[in-house]
Amino acid sequence: AGTPQKSKYIMALDSGTTSARAVIVDEYGCIVSQAQRAIPTIYPKSGWVEQDPMEILAAQIAVMMEVQFKSGIHSDRIAAIGISNQRETTIVWDADSGQPIHNAIVWQCRRTAPLADALIKDGYESMIREKTGLKPDAYFSATKISWILDNVDGAREAADAGQLMFGTVDTWLLYNLTGGRVHATDFTNASRTMLFNITSLEWDQELLELLNIPAAMLPDLRWSSGSFGRVSGEIMTHMPPITGVAGDQQASLFGHCCFDEGDVKNTYGTGCFMLMNTGARPVSSKNGLVATIGIAEGGHVSYALEGSIFHAGSVMSWLRDRLELVSSVEESAEIAQSIPDTGGCYVVPAFSGLGAPWWDPDARGLISGLSAASDRATLIRAACESMAYQTLDVLRAMEADAGSAMSELAVDGAAARNEFIMQFQADLLGIPVRRSEFVETTSLGAAYLAGLAVGYWEDREDLRQNIGRGRTFEPSADSERIARLTAGWHDAVARSRTNIH
Ligand code: ADP
Repeated sequence: AGTPQKSKYIMALDSGTTSARAVIVDEYGCIVSQAQRAIPTIYPKSGWVEQDPMEILAAQIAVMMEVQFKSGIHSDRIAAIGISNQRETTIVWDADSGQPIHNAIVWQCRRTAPLADALIKDGYESMIREKTGLKPDAYFSATKISWILDNVDGAREAADAGQLMFGTVDTWLLYNLTGGRVHATDFTNASRTMLFNITSLEWDQELLELLNIPAAMLPDLRWSSGSFGRVSGEIMTHMPPITGVAGDQQASLFGHCCFDEGDVKNTYGTGCFMLMNTGARPVSSKNGLVATIGIAEGGHVSYALEGSIFHAGSVMSWLRDRLELVSSVEESAEIAQSIPDTGGCYVVPAFSGLGAPWWDPDARGLISGLSAASDRATLIRAACESMAYQTLDVLRAMEADAGSAMSELAVDGAAARNEFIMQFQADLLGIPVRRSEFVETTSLGAAYLAGLAVGYWEDREDLRQNIGRGRTFEPSADSERIARLTAGWHDAVARSRTNIH
């Protein structure tokens, strides 16, 4: 790329689980500046996960200001704003005061597992799968909304009186950034609620009745690229319009330019999320994956198969904050590499059950295969490896559903910076792992969606020109060793699932 021809930039907001980010992107898809602020997570009891919606908002506004201040690129040089966000996380607030009536119930939270199980027991699984592409699970927003309505004093009456609003994090941010003028979401975020019909592209009346959720609480539905409203002058003056919104994993799919059927990406963040573009129709998984809206831009929808892993990078935060085994997550790569193997030790981070392809809410984390020789490095290496093993299981499930083998995996996310994990991943999968130049592909996707809407980029071809070189990790391990390691991992997973708690 030469010198930027355009004097303007796009701002992308990425409201993640671990942190809020704001980045400034130029016309070549280069991230010229970024600001980031951590968001605290609350664990009220085992398997429960919450965040304070005000902290999510405050962190986001702070980084929007900070990135302008840091880069010297102010609102008058920003052409549009895009938003990507942690999905499924559920916030309910009062329509008059704007105050949340409960903490955000984070996607990882398992408190509604009994509700999801009841839906399965009552025979609704195939109906839900047919309409939403999803498997009934506490992960998705629907049961979290029901829980808030049933457990917060006065919530049910207020909801029936049209007094409450529901939103995922995109909707919460949009609502607040527009000064309460816009209550909307995009199709990709809607497709994670378990209330959205992915074929008709509407909220599903039958599901709303089944879960006892008033339709009036729900946000308006929009395409991912288009007009979403303006930042209120009371928050920040002269900001450009918000013209792109997508769930973080769908934004990352778009940022990787996975526009064609068969394109796959995996993001290593708090969790790991693998998405494969399946084109114009949803594929019904026989191997523990879900169907979802992959891309909702350009007047037509591309569906995706998705495998979600609940705990990936968060295992490293756990090593740092709870076990205090590392002082920074970054040092994990070097320590893992300092030993040749874990000597048969495995960490299965089923902290809140297991996601794809196992979907076992009762599984709990374990460390297996300890010996007297096991030490700090062993645990750190096993924790790093757990991200790669979990990814292996999802990739094999995806190959089985697609009926074809994958030849390469495109990756991004903060934990993809860990070179040990990336090399181990390539060895384990036996295919090259291609890491994009900017691991912030989620932000890039949000910027692309916003930029397309205002003509900053012309079309998808224009975006493809920006595909960076990055680094490719080639597989180099012998297959007999990999087979032995993988068998050991599956033995450990089976142990994490023995239902003894
Ligand atoms: P999110 O978008 O879910 O907030 P990020 O993409 O920012 O997540 O990833 C943050 C997660 O990645 C944290 O849980 C952190 O522990 C993990 N992580 C970040 N850097 C590394 C690294 N070098 N090695 C391993 N894990 C890492």
